[in-house]
Amino acid sequence: MARVDGEALLKRLPPARGRLAANAPLADLTWFRTGGPAEVFFSPADEADLAAFLTATPADIPIYVIGVGSNLLVRDGGMPGVVIRLGKGFSGLRLEPESRIRAGAAVLDVRVARFAQEHGIDALTFLRGIPGTIGGALRMNGGAYGGETKDILVEARAVDRSGMLRVLSNSDMHYAYRHCGAPEELIFTEALFQGWPGDPATIAAAMDKITESREATQPVKTRTGGSTFKNPPGQKSWQLIDRAGMRGFSIGPAKVSEMHCNFLINEGGATAAQIEELGETVRRRVKETSGIDLEWEIKRIGVADGNV
Ligand SMILES: Cc1cc2nc3c(=O)[nH]c(=O)nc-3n(C[C@H](O)[C@H](O)[C@H](O)COP(=O)(O)OP(=O)(O)OC[C@H]3O[C@@H](n4cnc5c(N)ncnc54)[C@H](O)[C@@H]3O)c2cc1C
Repeated sequence: MARVDGEALLKRLPPARGRLAANAPLADLTWFRTGGPAEVFFSPADEADLAAFLTATPADIPIYVIGVGSNLLVRDGGMPGVVIRLGKGFSGLRLEPESRIRAGAAVLDVRVARFAQEHGIDALTFLRGIPGTIGGALRMNGGAYGGETKDILVEARAVDRSGMLRVLSNSDMHYAYRHCGAPEELIFTEALFQGWPGDPATIAAAMDKITESREATQPVKTRTGGSTFKNPPGQKSWQLIDRAGMRGFSIGPAKVSEMHCNFLINEGGATAAQIEELGETVRRRVKETSGIDLEWEIKRIGVADGNV
């Protein structure tokens, strides 16, 4: 049984043009396919709807934004407050002069990579390797195959908790490896990226290579959250996990991937608690065998279920 109860919260929220729902399941909105519901779920119609909603929402109500949940573990008791997911009204994608591309925060990274390739723009190719949205890439400084978001970002548009629109330059994002230092409360709505001219056929070949390499080395067709832990400086998390003897280790249907042991997998029916416990067990064993503290890259959100 979930701990959150959204009907009462819904009554405290302002009306909106987008969809508002109480006690909305989130499991199917995450790659792990597990976890509890959102107390209230909101899918704003567009940026103005989002801003007006935030302005009128009492400040004590927690707000959390999700993308397509490829880096999230939602705990079994669900998410208190309002979970926001950007949809159609944030899916613009357009070419700008001087090899720039403007993309809405709900657009998939893969789609932006393809759009850049079709328009002969290089430097955004790495986005082919990240199965999230532009909003998620901005927050995570998503990166793959030698590129990361901070290398291509000119500016990001965002709405803050009070509903104010803000534009952040690359340096305002305070990027580091898989980290963005911009205020946690910001909901990114759009990004402007800088590429350079390239040959569409060459870019397409590079993208195909990324696709092949991912399919050969990562369990991309399973219920997973991608890399579980950040790589410690000068080390690879998967090697530390392998050396700790954790490849293939499982707790119920939650399993350390045999293919890539920095990936945790839900083999079917795993609770978020089992997946989190598995991750913590891996961290403990790595600490015992190598002395290194692994840091979660996956965002664990929400509350644990009392019944687990
Ligand atoms: C098979 C697999 C492979 C992966 N490979 C890679 C990889 O190579 N490189 C890599 O970097 N990542 C990888 N990931 C992790 C994940 O895809 C990235 O972190 C991605 O950027 C997350 O995007 P998302 O839309 O799914 O965000 P979510 O997982 O939904 O959210 C992640 C974080 O972003 C925040 N967020 C999402 N949207 C917004 C927004 N609009 N405004 C503000 N914050 C927002 C959320 O609050 C949360 O903190 C992989 C994941 C999987 C499942």
